[in-house]
Amino acid sequence: MCFSLRSQEACVVDSIKVCSNDTGTGRLKRICITMRVPRNPTIGDKFASRHGQKGILSRLWPAEDMPFTESGMAPDILFNPHGFPSRMTIGMLIESMAGKSGALHGLSHDATPFTFSEESSALEYFGEMLRAGGYNYYGTERLYSGVSGLELEADIFIGVVYYQRLRHMVSDKFQVRTTGARDKVTNQPVGGRNIQGGIRFGEMERDALLAHGSSFLLHDRLFNCSDRSVAQVCVDCGSLLSPLLEKPPPYWSSMRNRKTVCTLCGKNDSIDSVSVPYVFRYFVAELAAMNIKVKLDIK
Ligand SMILES: [Zn+2]
Repeated sequence: MCFSLRSQEACVVDSIKVCSNDTGTGRLKRICITMRVPRNPTIGDKFASRHGQKGILSRLWPAEDMPFTESGMAPDILFNPHGFPSRMTIGMLIESMAGKSGALHGLSHDATPFTFSEESSALEYFGEMLRAGGYNYYGTERLYSGVSGLELEADIFIGVVYYQRLRHMVSDKFQVRTTGARDKVTNQPVGGRNIQGGIRFGEMERDALLAHGSSFLLHDRLFNCSDRSVAQVCVDCGSLLSPLLEKPPPYWSSMRNRKTVCTLCGKNDSIDSVSVPYVFRYFVAELAAMNIKVKLDIK
């Protein structure tokens, strides 16, 4: 038997199954262990109703700040009504009313599709049921602000909806980096959360900074914090590849200053230091491999 558990999180063994053939007499057996990791919902975790209405928990309110109904009930989740017109998940509103009426009368509803029609609508059916339970026909209720205690001006649609937790949680996804691994070829920071990589600052992000005119930040992200390097360039021939550190004669000590010499011009007084992105040097080398010369005009 062998298994691996990569996570350091505390977990509960949910089930252990010994798997074999149908009768359980097989020689080969496999043991399946299901682990359950209990986690509290945090900001950034993903949830969804059964209607594909997924969303991210964006704020955790203290229970006392939540709005409450006349009976003192506070909702678990508040969502923005703007999520409904474009997605057309009417089913969630119907489920809300159905859940509320079911909870009121202590019954479960049959959710077979196409049982309601234009003539006898679900709204009518559940509305009447809610009215019979002493609630508003449309499933709305008067709510009071948890912060001020004042009555909210609009009636709020409130009900019971089944919610699921989706397996995208910030604790699995958050990423930070100061300095760390760099790519061997480009010398740019590598990507990837498990290797402490950076987060890509792409073209659209670049455009956003350009639009704001924040050139210092742009330069900092794309150059200084990325693959900034200092290259030796020959001012005379403009070559980035020809300046080489002169080979020390065998009798030289390693402490002695070695000069950079342009191998094309054969002199060292025409060498200048320029800071360029490291990928640019790679780019120049690749162009050279295609027989294309890159000449830098240094001023
Ligand atoms: Zn040169």
